[in-house]
Amino acid sequence: MVTSMTTTAAAGTSTAAPASTTAASNTAPAATTAASDGGGSGGSGGIGGNTGTVRLRRNRPGTKSADLSRWPEEAFDEMDSTLAVQQHIQQLVRREPAAVEDILSAPETQDEGVWKYEHLRQFCMELNGLAVLLQGECQPETCTQMTATEQWIFLCAAHKTPKECPAIDYTRHTLDGAACLLNSNKYFPSRVSIKESSVAKLGSVCRRVYRIFSHAYFHHRQIFDSNSSKICRWWK
Ligand SMILES: [Zn+2]
Ligand SMILES: [Zn+2]
Repeated sequence: MVTSMTTTAAAGTSTAAPASTTAASNTAPAATTAASDGGGSGGSGGIGGNTGTVRLRRNRPGTKSADLSRWPEEAFDEMDSTLAVQQHIQQLVRREPAAVEDILSAPETQDEGVWKYEHLRQFCMELNGLAVLLQGECQPETCTQMTATEQWIFLCAAHKTPKECPAIDYTRHTLDGAACLLNSNKYFPSRVSIKESSVAKLGSVCRRVYRIFSHAYFHHRQIFDSNSSKICRWWK
């Protein structure tokens, strides 16, 4: 499972408490703080821009899932963190997961490569939640191969020679591989500008992680349709 990609926690509500805790969690990506994520200033609980008061957008350990990330929205052009794009995307998804057009429309001046990269990051993070749900039902004995429709068997690219991993292993290996690439200092050293040659790598990640989604749709529809699987509402 991916644990290293965390959500943005930037300036926010004024209920200030010591900004020292980080809550890493596999199962609830939205509950983590940005302390180790990409070197941005977002997780430091910094000074909130114009007012000079300390503002935190932070999910404290023990926050109930219904209360996660319930802080006031911030206009994109007022975000001054290096994680602004991520923060903006997460804000849009929270506001209305079904508003796909809005979520996918980049702000006018936004660099396209960064936009794609941040969207894929978010997609993979949310897909981890789906993977957790799948683990209860998608067993190597029953889903022996990664399939969606009958037409194709997808080979897992996480191995020296691509392999027919069972669907749940394909899911884990592919999400791990995606996290490694997206966090790679070699290809993505910056969250602000990204080389074309690195942007070109995103396509194959999309293709592979999307299969997890179609596997859930065709083989585990109840999980796909369940309310706890937010990403499916987002992409339905
Ligand atoms: Zn399965
Ligand atoms: Zn594999």
